[in-house]
Amino acid sequence: MTRAEHNTVTPADQSHHAPVPEVNPGAGHNYTSPVGAPDGVITLKDLQVFYGDFLAVTDVSMHIGSSEITALIGPSGCGKSTVLRCLNRMNDLVPGARVEGAVAYHGIDMYGPNVDVIEVRRRIGMVFQKPNPFPKSIFDNVAYGPKVTGMKVKNMAEVVEEALRAAALWDEVKDKLKQNAYGLSGGQQQRLCIARAIATKPEVILMDEPCSALDPIATAKIEDLMADLASTYTIIIVTHNMQQAARVSQRTAFFTAQADDMGHRTGRLIEFDTTEKIFSNPSDSRTEAYITGRFG
Ligand code: ADP
Repeated sequence: MTRAEHNTVTPADQSHHAPVPEVNPGAGHNYTSPVGAPDGVITLKDLQVFYGDFLAVTDVSMHIGSSEITALIGPSGCGKSTVLRCLNRMNDLVPGARVEGAVAYHGIDMYGPNVDVIEVRRRIGMVFQKPNPFPKSIFDNVAYGPKVTGMKVKNMAEVVEEALRAAALWDEVKDKLKQNAYGLSGGQQQRLCIARAIATKPEVILMDEPCSALDPIATAKIEDLMADLASTYTIIIVTHNMQQAARVSQRTAFFTAQADDMGHRTGRLIEFDTTEKIFSNPSDSRTEAYITGRFG
C-alpha cells in the first residue's frame, strides 16, 4: 500500500494541516529489526530516551499494530511511560528529555524538522493516569480539542454527542452538558477524557495507567470501553496491572530495567509478542519471572 492510500484510509486524513513530510527513518542507520505487528502504525527503531545525562530507556524496536490494543508492562521505572510519551512527542514538554533513534508514524519520522507537533497530538491522543478534565463544562471539555486544533466542524453539538457516545458516557451526561466536569465521578471524568481525545478524530489513543486511580467498577467500564474502541482506534496502554494487560490487549511488550556499574537503572524492551504468547509461553526467562510474580 502506498503512503497516499494509507492516508485515505486513516481517520487522520480529516486534518486541515499540511501533511507531515515523508522520510525514511532507517536511512543511514544500522537499525535492529522491529518486532511485533506486521502492519505497524507506529514503528520504533532503536529508541533511546535520556533525561539530561541519564539514559532512562534503550533498545526499543517495535511495530505497533493497527486497530488493536498493545500493552506496555514491566516493573516500575523500566521506562514504560517514557516510551509512551515519545509516541506523540509528549516528552518534548519534559525539561531535559531527549529522544534518539526513530519513531515513525506510517513511515513518517515523527521527530523530523517540519513536523507539526499539534497535528501529531491530534492524530495520536493521550489519556493520563489521573483524570484531568479542564475546569469547564462537560460540553466544552469535549469541544476543546476540535476548537484548538482548528478542525472545521459544522455542528459542534453533533461532534460532542458522537464522542460522548463513543466513550460510553452520553446517557449519563446528556442532561447536564453545561455542568462543570469536576462534578462527575472519577470514572466518568476518565471517560470524559477519553471522549475529549476521541473528539479530535485521532487514529491512535495512548493511555498511561488509565485505571490506576479508579475503583474496580469504574475500571471494568473503562476496560469494556477499550475493547469497543479497539475496532476503530489503535490503543497503546501502559499498565502495572498484568491481569489488565492480559484481559484487554492483543499484544504485550515487556520492559525491565537493569542497573549498570554505577547503579543507574536503564529500561529495555525485553520481549514483544502476542499477549497470549507472553502470558502462556514467553521466550525470555525475565518475562516469565515477571508474569509469574517472581520479580517486579
Ligand atoms: P515506568 O513508567 O516504567 O514506571 P518511567 O518511564 O516513569 O517508568 O521512568 C523511567 C526512568 O526515567 C525512571 O528511572 C524515572 O525515574 C526516570 N524519569 C521519568 N521521568 C523523568 C523526568 N521527568 N525527569 C528525570 N527522570 C525521569
